[in-house]
Amino acid sequence: MPRRRRIYEGKAKVLFEGPEPGTLVQYFKDDATAFNAQKHALIEGKGVLNNRISEYLMLRLAEVGVPTHFVKRLNMREQLIRQVEIIPIEVVVRNVAAGSISKRLGIAEGTPLPRSIVEYYYKDDALGDPLVTEEHITAFGWASPPDLDDMFNMALRINDYMTGLFMGAGLKLIDFKVEFGRLVTDDVEQIVLADEISPDSCRLWDITTNEIFDKDRFRKDLGGVVEGYREVARRLGILQEANVTDLKTGEPHAAEVEESTSEK
Ligand code: UDP
Repeated sequence: MPRRRRIYEGKAKVLFEGPEPGTLVQYFKDDATAFNAQKHALIEGKGVLNNRISEYLMLRLAEVGVPTHFVKRLNMREQLIRQVEIIPIEVVVRNVAAGSISKRLGIAEGTPLPRSIVEYYYKDDALGDPLVTEEHITAFGWASPPDLDDMFNMALRINDYMTGLFMGAGLKLIDFKVEFGRLVTDDVEQIVLADEISPDSCRLWDITTNEIFDKDRFRKDLGGVVEGYREVARRLGILQEANVTDLKTGEPHAAEVEESTSEK
């Protein structure tokens, strides 16, 4: 099969031209970055796990009426997505203080917030993704007031749904980041959830012990990063074949191939 044309390479993913116009293939790498890419490492198997976790969350969210860019998972590291125009805003929803809000406002990590708080960051690596307000977003035209309304409402719906979903898996959703895109179909423009949702973009703590299972294991040098991500996948019930899949390459082992061919 000919190599697909590379459209864009980010820190943790690569986007390739899709098989049909209006589609892209999203490839999950093992690269991990933090602190505006000042810290970098390869975490073997992270891409395979994030591909599966993000697929699962996008499908569950679609079931409850959140429109997404996700079409289907193609293989261990790739998924087919609809091409959208990414809105250059990272939408963060917080339930419990951690990370930058703890530092900025002096609130101890782990303090429950009085209510869920939505924040916006302008996606610009050179500026270090600064915190911005709705005023900046609409004044500079990054998103229109109705688009921003949609993003705000969708972010809160995603938070409500995922809080319950993770709670059922024994995990506390501390905070997360999502991105949205504009999808045009038949001349109608719609805001849809894009990018990925994974332990790279969520903080997830054990509901009783507060053990960390997300990218903070990498940020804080706690070790066991891939084990944390694998635990999230296991608790969500989406990793049945983990023991027969090579997390390094994403290639299935002979056992899985035999199993899947014998089903046909
Ligand atoms: N986040 C992300 N990408 C970013 C910045 C933040 O996915 O570029 C996620 C992060 O993993 C956390 C939430 O957004 O779940 C809030 O992050 P925070 O503002 O606390 O920044 P951090 O201290 O993690 O850099």
